[in-house]
Amino acid sequence: MRDVYCDYCGTKADLVDSKVVYGESYGLIYLCPKCGAYVGVHKGTDKPLGRLANAELRHWKRNAHAVFDPLWQHGPFRGRRNAAYAWLAQQMGLPVEKTHIGMFDVAQCKTAINIIFEYMKGVQQNGALQRKERHSHFPGGHSDHPY
Ligand SMILES: [Zn+2]
Repeated sequence: MRDVYCDYCGTKADLVDSKVVYGESYGLIYLCPKCGAYVGVHKGTDKPLGRLANAELRHWKRNAHAVFDPLWQHGPFRGRRNAAYAWLAQQMGLPVEKTHIGMFDVAQCKTAINIIFEYMKGVQQNGALQRKERHSHFPGGHSDHPY
């Protein structure tokens, strides 16, 4: 078992079953006993998915996923989640291995949302590009991205 510390208050997090926060078990989570921030683990491991999140961060991560996921689910990066993350990494000036919504703080979530909004505006103004993308064949759609 590894030591995971809360990003908010520095308290050592407990590895507990997620039913303590969800009422139902979805596997293990790291839970801060002091402030209640938590994060899930990679299935079958004790490796946290990202940083512990409090209610505010969870809210912004949900928003970031809500604009980011359509990019690779059916948008310009359809079927290429890793490519979408690589693009976002470049836009944010972050190394790609640090570019996971699960690792973002609130400010990074907001930055990502703004970048994606601006980008989508450009895509919508450029119908030709969008049509071309829509009919493109994307090999390597398999994604091993952890988040
Ligand atoms: Zn805490």
